[in-house]
Amino acid sequence: MIPFNKPYMTGRELWYIAQAHTNSHLSGDGSFTRKCNGWLEAITGAHKALLTHSCTAALEMAALLANIQPGDEIIMPSYTFVSTANAFVLRGGVPVFVDVRPDTLNIDETLINAAITPRTKAIVPVHYAGVACDMDAIMIIARQHNLIVIEDAAQGIMSTYKGRPLGSIGQLGAYSFHETKNIIAGEGGALLVNDACFAERAEVIREKGTNRNLFFRGHVDKYTWVDIGSSYLTGEVVAAFLWAQMEEAEAITEKRLAIWEFYHAALAPLETAGVLRRPIIPDSCQHNAHMYYILLESLEKRSELIARLKEQGINAVFHYVPLHSSPAGRRHGRAFGTMIHTESVSDRLLRLPFWVGLSETDIMQTVGAIERLLCP
Ligand SMILES: *Cc1c(COP(=O)(O)O)cnc(C)c1O
Repeated sequence: MIPFNKPYMTGRELWYIAQAHTNSHLSGDGSFTRKCNGWLEAITGAHKALLTHSCTAALEMAALLANIQPGDEIIMPSYTFVSTANAFVLRGGVPVFVDVRPDTLNIDETLINAAITPRTKAIVPVHYAGVACDMDAIMIIARQHNLIVIEDAAQGIMSTYKGRPLGSIGQLGAYSFHETKNIIAGEGGALLVNDACFAERAEVIREKGTNRNLFFRGHVDKYTWVDIGSSYLTGEVVAAFLWAQMEEAEAITEKRLAIWEFYHAALAPLETAGVLRRPIIPDSCQHNAHMYYILLESLEKRSELIARLKEQGINAVFHYVPLHSSPAGRRHGRAFGTMIHTESVSDRLLRLPFWVGLSETDIMQTVGAIERLLCP
């Protein structure tokens, strides 16, 4: 059996959890949370990084910080996870879905201008597979129209765009530490506050709308309810687990990149034969090997391949069902223009098994099975 994903453990997770236990500080913002926040600030250059219980929570915080009001429009791709849209819909926002580029499968920045209306408040680029959107183009459009850029960098930790870490380029960015991502905590996430003007309110929103953080720093003599907010913190047990992963983030990324390169080389002849397309990484991007996907000729070919691989104990999976045509997407959002590439990619994309520890034998077995079906 070759599973699709297998969480990687560094071996120190339990040791740090035991320390959190000994510290007897189990709620949020203890020493492990501070270590994780500090590490994120150091690697991204963010003004402030705040651990959250998920990337979904970080996106919800971003929607609150952006002051999204009912009817406000948020430009985003349709080829993404539901949380990208939900976070804004919860505030009454209207996702305006824009098609993706056929090369990176990221939002097509050349379509954004035309999708802007007087109600547009924000752009939410999603860095699919840890490969950057064209952030220079997106930031220029945002500046011209006075829009906030919130990067959904759920898959983007340790990736860069022209040398800049993903999540650190827009005013706000969101990371995920879900079990299926590169650096994991089971469930976890972080909000990167790159524009200092959001920092104080971000802490308040994350602490149930109270000024608890100012109180602990001695800036106010009692803490009180000052704004809307919720509980977006992670507990220390989760932060302790995550700290073990962060310590090895570079090694984990290197191991993943080696697996990615091995797949990429092994699949090159099949691309040359014209039976599939491999991922395209623009020169401006250093990616983090979040996933390895292939694009097949048609939905039928993909279904056949999934079934054939399954017979051989290999678990390969498709990805997003477009949001613009989903029941909630139709109710709460709207598509701008055609969604030709989104729909085509959604039908044809197949993600191959990918996890630290996947062997070259496993990869060759997977590639061999693909070859037997596509080039009989
Ligand atoms: C995983 C993911 C999320 C959600 O992350 P959680 O930590 O599970 O909330 C959001 N957006 C994208 C693009 C993702 O891949």
